[in-house]
Amino acid sequence: MIKTFMSKKILLHTCCVSCLSIVHKKLLDNDFSPVIFYYNPSIQGKIEYLNRLKDVTEYCQKNSLEIIVPEYNEEEFFKPLRPWQDKNSLKYINDNNRFRRKRCEFCYQLKIYRTASEAKKTRVNFFSTTLLASPYQDHEFIDYISSQIAKENDLEFIYEDFRKGYWQGRNFSRSHKYIIPTYCGCTFSQTERMLE
Ligand code: SF4
Repeated sequence: MIKTFMSKKILLHTCCVSCLSIVHKKLLDNDFSPVIFYYNPSIQGKIEYLNRLKDVTEYCQKNSLEIIVPEYNEEEFFKPLRPWQDKNSLKYINDNNRFRRKRCEFCYQLKIYRTASEAKKTRVNFFSTTLLASPYQDHEFIDYISSQIAKENDLEFIYEDFRKGYWQGRNFSRSHKYIIPTYCGCTFSQTERMLE
């Protein structure tokens, strides 16, 4: 459960409106004032990245939310993964499930670490992520790594299981004509979704 605080600013890592709409409402119900942090180097392709950003920006404007958008550099996500895919590398991972797990853990870490750094820089004490609205993400790992990063930076990570609102968020996007993402973000997730 979210702890009860007086109205507090919270930096919220955000990837799309579907998940944001749910998490935003929950945070408001608990007296948080979210600042949106759209940091998503794992989104494959600038067009998809910009389409999701356009929606998130519009949502923020309609709801008077501040939004921070760091420069998009997909290499921050893809470059460290290459040795795991390169058969000539000692780090090559010859197992799809293991690669998937390591890749997602790295992705969470990258996004959370950057969110915490931004929170520290902008003097916001709390941070969280809309990844927690998705039933496809590893909540246990996100909570573990985020709590560690929070501790190292003298911040507080807010964990809440927002998954109950997942379909509600998608319905919100549908009725407001926002994109409903069909895959998590990276090219691997796009392929995996097509194969499912
Ligand atoms: S599937 Fe999602 S969480 Fe996993 S690496 Fe790709 S974008 Fe990141």
